[in-house]
Amino acid sequence: MSEFTYQGEAGRQRPDPASTDRAAWDAYVYDRLNPAGEHNELWQHSGGCRAHLVVTRNTLTHVISSVAFAREAGRAHSAGRRGKGARS
Ligand SMILES: [Zn+2]
Repeated sequence: MSEFTYQGEAGRQRPDPASTDRAAWDAYVYDRLNPAGEHNELWQHSGGCRAHLVVTRNTLTHVISSVAFAREAGRAHSAGRRGKGARS
């Protein structure tokens, strides 16, 4: 096991669970960005404190330009997003 586990693209917006918009659900389940350049990624410190991190990594050079706790990044750019256990 490695210390950090990749958990996919960061900042994805799940459709409302009550939504029956098939195109929106198809996009959410299947569409992924695959940039040659900077990409926002969700990583978990699975071998440590288990915190989730939003890492901005250049897919060509692997240079990491920013790291933030996901809970803080989530507040900054997706206000109103439903999180685990969050109800509004
Ligand atoms: Zn940690």
